[in-house]
Amino acid sequence: MTVKTVGFVGIGNMGARMVPHIAKTGTPVHIYDLNEEASNAMARAHNGIVVEKSAKAVAEATDAVITMLPAGPDVNKCALGPNGLAEGFSKGDILIDMSSSQPWLTVELAAELAERGISMIDSPVSGGTTGADAGTLTLMIGGDDAIVERCMPVLKPMAKHIFRTGKVGSGHALKTLNNMLSGINTMAATEIMLVGKKFGLDPEVMVDVINESTGMNGAMKRTMKQHVISRSFGGGFAWDLKFKDFVIAMELARKTGTPIPLCGMAFQLNEAANNWIGDASGKTSSEIVRWMEHMAGVEIKK
Ligand code: NAD
Repeated sequence: MTVKTVGFVGIGNMGARMVPHIAKTGTPVHIYDLNEEASNAMARAHNGIVVEKSAKAVAEATDAVITMLPAGPDVNKCALGPNGLAEGFSKGDILIDMSSSQPWLTVELAAELAERGISMIDSPVSGGTTGADAGTLTLMIGGDDAIVERCMPVLKPMAKHIFRTGKVGSGHALKTLNNMLSGINTMAATEIMLVGKKFGLDPEVMVDVINESTGMNGAMKRTMKQHVISRSFGGGFAWDLKFKDFVIAMELARKTGTPIPLCGMAFQLNEAANNWIGDASGKTSSEIVRWMEHMAGVEIKK
């Protein structure tokens, strides 16, 4: 029995771009966000959106609920807190956590919900706000096959690539590892750009050449020209969320007893950058580049 009615909690940078793809399929989407205006704006802009007053009300109205919240503790609160999802779910309903959450919290929450007859899968995403806008996200789905199959009609409209990663929590584990690698790619790309700039190379030429060479990486492709050389330092991924993902990945390494000295060094640099950044409101994931420029005494610009 596939999911027929769907809820969505967390109408932020990502959620606000993901919900319309589900609504376009004709499935009514019941939404909730602590920020009421975010929900109301969504309902004004798209047909088939029903704004609810609580997570509980979303769960009562639907048979599967997607969460797209900052991290695992927010998902726990939304699921098990007062007026939370668990109070509104019926037996057989499903929680789909698409946030980038702590994998060990996901495993614990899934077990807690299972005792109440509720299933949970994790389906974190990569592709950023651009992929969310275009409906071309990459999904990494952890959970029981039968439950995942039931959720496919609401997941597919948001995605281009869908990977099954294993049991519940495995999607979150893979996502956090991807983000740690992506963070290190950004730092490596920044270091070579700083050296090139000081030597007098043209930053745009550097990006063009490297993107056709073996040094190419995601930061070179998607960040360097778009957000650094342009000096916009934009994009829809908040610095705080990027830093949170690095913390989760480091903790996963510690919990699994895995020595990761390179990643550890990169994390320590991010910790220093985080202190330097201070109030991170309005600052994005590429803020690390600005800190590295500060350290080098040069800016990566034309
Ligand atoms: P965001 O901060 O823009 O949105 C989060 C939303 O959740 C906010 O609107 C907030 O009001 C709401 N919220 C928080 N707690 C709530 C609760 N208990 N009940 C209801 N609403 C609540 O964050 P985002 O950029 O949309 O990211 C969401 C998740 O997706 C994060 O885990 C992030 O790491 C991940 N992610 C983000 C990107 C990106 O590019 N922004 C890309 C991939 C994954």
